[in-house]
Amino acid sequence: MYIPGPSTPQDPLSSRPLSAAGTGEVARLQVQVERLLMITEALWGILKEQHGFDDKELQKRIVEIDLRDGRMDGKVAAAPPTECPKCGRTIAKQSIRCMYCGEPLLMDPFAR
Ligand SMILES: [Zn+2]
Repeated sequence: MYIPGPSTPQDPLSSRPLSAAGTGEVARLQVQVERLLMITEALWGILKEQHGFDDKELQKRIVEIDLRDGRMDGKVAAAPPTECPKCGRTIAKQSIRCMYCGEPLLMDPFAR
């Protein structure tokens, strides 16, 4: 199964490849990404074995998600700012309550 994405992490400030081990924050993020990949792979294995899904279905869904912003580029575009359903003010992404009026907000767990 192929999931599009960057092959070698690049230092955004210099465009040089990062060292394999990485340092500081980059190393911490690499560990977290690897852990998320392992969790995702484990969950996918369960879905395949216990519910009969196959890799073609997963690849189809990945392409659908990638194309939501109209571009096949291996990433999902950031969602535009949203407004509080109660007071109408623009609210920060991933907030659980409106910072102005306190209204509880339904958050999209996959919002970027
Ligand atoms: Zn509000």
